[in-house]
Amino acid sequence: MTSNVRADMDDVDWAATPLGPRSAWPQSLRTTVEIMLTSRFSMWMAWGPQLTFFCNDAYRRDTLGEKYPWALGRLASEVWAEIWADIGPRIDSVLATGVATWDEALLLFLHRSGYPEETYHTFSYSPLADDEGTVAGMLCVVMEDTERVIGARRMQTLRDLAAATASTLTVNEVFAESCDELGRNRMDVPFALFYARTDAAGAATGGELKPGAGGTAELACAVGLDDDHPAAPQQIDLAGEAPLWPLTASEVVVDLDVRFGELPRGDLPAAPDKALVLPLRTAPGRATHGWLVLGLNRFRPLDEAYRTFINLAVAEVNAAVDSAAAIEEERRRATALAELDAAKTRFFTNISHELRTPLTLILGPAADMLHDGAAPLPERQRRRAEMALRNGERLLGLVNTLLDFSRIQAGRARCRRQSTDLARYTAELAAMFESVITSAGLSLTVDAPPLTSPVTVDREMWTKIVLNLLSNALKFTFDGGIAVELCQLDGEFEGSPHVELRVRDTGIGIEPAEQAHLFERFHRVAGARSRTFEGTGIGLALVAELAELHGGAVSVESAPGVGSTFAVRIPATGELTDTHDDPGESDEDAPATAARFLEQAQRWVSDARTASNDAGQDPSTSRERVLLVDDNADMRTFLLSLLSDHYDVEAAFDGLDALTKARARAPDLVLTDVMMPNLDGFGLLKALRADEALREVPVIMVSARAGEDGVSAGLEAGATDYVLKPFSARELLARVRATLDLDRSRREGARTSAAIDLLDRGQQVARIGFWSIEVESGATSVSSGLLDMLGMTAHQVTELGFEASIRAAVHPEDQHLVLEAIEAGIRGEPMLYTVRLVQAGKDEVLCKVLAEVEFSAGQARVIHGFAQAVTREGT
Ligand code: ADP
Repeated sequence: MTSNVRADMDDVDWAATPLGPRSAWPQSLRTTVEIMLTSRFSMWMAWGPQLTFFCNDAYRRDTLGEKYPWALGRLASEVWAEIWADIGPRIDSVLATGVATWDEALLLFLHRSGYPEETYHTFSYSPLADDEGTVAGMLCVVMEDTERVIGARRMQTLRDLAAATASTLTVNEVFAESCDELGRNRMDVPFALFYARTDAAGAATGGELKPGAGGTAELACAVGLDDDHPAAPQQIDLAGEAPLWPLTASEVVVDLDVRFGELPRGDLPAAPDKALVLPLRTAPGRATHGWLVLGLNRFRPLDEAYRTFINLAVAEVNAAVDSAAAIEEERRRATALAELDAAKTRFFTNISHELRTPLTLILGPAADMLHDGAAPLPERQRRRAEMALRNGERLLGLVNTLLDFSRIQAGRARCRRQSTDLARYTAELAAMFESVITSAGLSLTVDAPPLTSPVTVDREMWTKIVLNLLSNALKFTFDGGIAVELCQLDGEFEGSPHVELRVRDTGIGIEPAEQAHLFERFHRVAGARSRTFEGTGIGLALVAELAELHGGAVSVESAPGVGSTFAVRIPATGELTDTHDDPGESDEDAPATAARFLEQAQRWVSDARTASNDAGQDPSTSRERVLLVDDNADMRTFLLSLLSDHYDVEAAFDGLDALTKARARAPDLVLTDVMMPNLDGFGLLKALRADEALREVPVIMVSARAGEDGVSAGLEAGATDYVLKPFSARELLARVRATLDLDRSRREGARTSAAIDLLDRGQQVARIGFWSIEVESGATSVSSGLLDMLGMTAHQVTELGFEASIRAAVHPEDQHLVLEAIEAGIRGEPMLYTVRLVQAGKDEVLCKVLAEVEFSAGQARVIHGFAQAVTREGT
């Protein structure tokens, strides 16, 4: 804007003002006006008893707005009527005292843009003296501060909003905190309402809000308005007609009329007359999850700065909602998981309890049967009862482990600690395992020097810790040895004395990635080579829990192919921390536990050794041969006794063993378990199918893998049949028989058709063909060798029938020979004739036919004969 106040002053009718014409102005006034006009600082001044108004270009530009040029020469009280109450007293004081005033960022509602506007000014009023030296006016040097003050205020709100919502955890908390923070700035936010979308699709992460989709919005929180204010309805029906607030997918400016009731003024001189309804969504294109209704400061324009402030505030709220929704979702998932886990624990507890009763009732009678001196069992029955007892006990052991584990998980396990000479106790446990370890070809070293003081442990739990680790070491070690060490870690760990148990092995080791998961319930390393497939993945989880119950911890160090060391460290305090005894909860005592572990380990070792001796049959017998594959010795014995009455049975203890045995001598049938160490049933099946000599051998798979669609998996993999455990002896025998029979007829069928094929090919080479005709029906069949000579297909011969076939294939002059020969044949005379066969595009073939007629009950039934080509084509 070009400077023209000076020019505009010329247009003012000064004579009509209290100051009179300019020519009559005192020198002091002229000089002061001149100084003001030439200054680039924003200034205005008032002169004379009635305070006539002057200003310069800067003031006109920055402050005066639409009051210019009207204001020039008016009374200051008229020009600034709307703020005279604020500035009048200041001017009076300057005039009266001659002392300048100073105000910083004073809020003044100026009427310069067509509405009262919130503005801020820093200014000083200084006295102006006339030619006599008396105070005759005042000069104001002013700097408008509006942008700075409002900008800083909004920035502060945005900063506080970000800080307050940074750590909010739920969507509702985000709304409440945001509401609070916005409410602290009642200049820019005279009131605010947060509405949350409550219909199902309107969850923070839900679907897009479609027009007319319905649903409701619930008032989440409000500031500046009471909850029961008519402008703050608790609920808004999104599909309702003319709702108070238009909650839609886009922003709307609402004129606040009587429907909204009397609205509070906030920190402003008057209540807002407009509000902004803003949809909240976490990202463009995402669903609207709520709305912010914002009363607008009617003393500020809704300009770019105001909009930027509102948009940034909304963005802040949205970001906080987004992360709160993510946290809520995460928490929901964690809760669901925890519930699932608890349900699993409950389920195991229940099922274990349920299993224990029938098991006890199976084991009791079985034991009685074996120990009944009055009625001793015959040898064969005794062996069977022993097997039942052994396996029942194994099942009971598994159930007890599950129960132990569930009890710990449910927080119901109690340590019954006793002061124990832990070194000796541990050494004894290890010694129990010595013979089984040596019979597996491994060495055992025990290093457990006496500890300085007894340690309190729950002995049964300690037994489980030591034996779980020992039996794992045995299970996964094939060469070398196992070492058990117990030592005192005086003060080395957490400043208090601890003892550490270490079980080392030179076994298969564990991949680093797996090590972190070993102590998780049910975790097993897939494909690990082991002595047995038995196991549930609970052992180490149990060890960890038991160690924890003793205030200790477990750790592992392992290198694949080198070996593993498991260490359990427990405090060596002599205190009896928790001696609570829960007698009803004791399932096994330490010796029973130890016996169970030992029995199990013996079985693994003997399983492998006894397998090869199972085959006791004479290989020269002509009975069918079954190769039986199972890693469980009892199962092998059971199946062996079942099958050996009918078949020659050879047993193998895993897939690899079976493959070697099958290659040495091909069986007629393979009956294999699925889950086995080293090479499982599926691996074996694949290897057999890939072996030229063994690919036809029928394979029956036996598995406990129910429910996982194991049957179809097995059949798809090429098993001939699939039997689920548990099975009855009769069922298994029937399946084996059926499979063998089917295979035999398949092989015989294959042999017959091979023989026919061979004959046919021979006929073609010798150019001989056979034919036969049923006299009554005329049905004709012709061998392929003859078809070749006739130049016809079997189908054509059938279609045409005998006579038409003769007409088509035999030289017209010779056809009668055929018919005459047949008549002769029916009369019982010999049939021997030679005819020429013709084929389009080929030379004639001379064909010698010898035939005979088959009679039954004096009737000619079938004529059959053979034909031989006696000339070659082309000769
Ligand atoms: P389970 O032996 O019943 O499978 P555990 O919890 O005792 O269950 O062991 C979990 C898994 O940890 C085992 O399946 C095996 O893969 C691995 N593991 C445990 N001990 C050893 C060991 N000494 N050497 C190698 N792998 C081991």
